Amino acid sequence: MGVVVVGAGISGVMCARELRSAGVAVTVLDRGRVVGGRMASKRHDGRPVDTGASYFTVSDAAFDAVVRDWERRGLARPWTDTFDAYSADGHERKTGSMRWAAPAGLRSLVTDLAAELQVRGQHHVGSVDRADGTLTVDGAPADAVVLAMPDPQAARVLSPALTAVSTALTDPFQPVLALTTIFAERSWTPLDGAFVNDHPTINWIADDGRRRGDDAPVLVAHSTPDFARHHLEDPAEAADPMTAALRTVLDLDAEPVLAQVHRWTFGKPAGQREEPYFLGDDLVGVCGDAWSAKPRVESAFLSGRALGRALVHRLGA
Ligand SMILES: Cc1cc2nc3c(=O)[nH]c(=O)nc-3n(C[C@H](O)[C@H](O)[C@H](O)COP(=O)(O)OP(=O)(O)OC[C@H]3O[C@@H](n4cnc5c(N)ncnc54)[C@H](O)[C@@H]3O)c2cc1C
Repeated sequence: MGVVVVGAGISGVMCARELRSAGVAVTVLDRGRVVGGRMASKRHDGRPVDTGASYFTVSDAAFDAVVRDWERRGLARPWTDTFDAYSADGHERKTGSMRWAAPAGLRSLVTDLAAELQVRGQHHVGSVDRADGTLTVDGAPADAVVLAMPDPQAARVLSPALTAVSTALTDPFQPVLALTTIFAERSWTPLDGAFVNDHPTINWIADDGRRRGDDAPVLVAHSTPDFARHHLEDPAEAADPMTAALRTVLDLDAEPVLAQVHRWTFGKPAGQREEPYFLGDDLVGVCGDAWSAKPRVESAFLSGRALGRALVHRLGA
């Protein structure tokens, strides 16, 4: 039977890698065509733009080793340690930890991690159940099941028989809209990324050309959760107000030649947790960025890896 990991974001892929390297048979299923989840990159005329996570930071030694390997192979690059911050009081620059980016888009890093795994895309899992002592995923038996995804998405697939895991899924997550804008040329004051504080519409702007290292005139802005909530039904309608907010904050005269919105209904966890994953007696586990004190790419990586190790132990592999 083996283990079924549902979700091919970085947490699911890391969980599956741990299982595979301990000799456990594992299959990863994802409803998307490609792996990566919220480490998403969309291509425009062949050029990738990051529409989910903007960058990642590194503090854990194990993650650092993986990132250094990506860097050696040209898959990841240190982007910047300095961002701008705009607020009603004005504008300042702030230096912090190094933010990393990927020339081919962050998705390419998950693709790299998943290279040796058996991943089935375009498989939307509809039900995880337990009947007569047997776990099933869409009716097919499994030794254990991992839901590597936001709590509300995991809750949707669980049968009422699996109450322990349903009860653990408490984070409602917050929505985000990501606006991609492509301009004819660069006409803004140079910046890498900018936090936009106290604005009702957007809270973050990234210069995708500087992030990627090719200087293409592309900006990505993220909405506030409240603004996103009001546009979840028709995200395309958010393109104009988000573009207007972006142009006002950066004092830009030029209009973009393309403005496109991507909706993340479950974009970011609303809270934080001490536990790095959930694993119940019935061998259904949950991992992802919500299982951390600081939800981000690195936390999702660590959560998936920790659940994978715990499952190896539990399965006696
Ligand atoms: C707009 C935005 C900006 C962000 N910015 C940053 C940032 O700058 N830095 C940072 O570190 N982090 C950032 N993050 C967070 C980061 O993207 C996440 O922490 C990380 O990618 C989460 O990985 P995951 O594996 O936990 O979940 P996900 O990547 O969400 O993976 C879940 C997967 O499950 C699949 N799935 C869901 N339901 C089903 C189903 N029923 N059947 C089959 N498959 C299913 C989905 O298709 C998806 O691929 C951002 C996130 C967003 C949305």
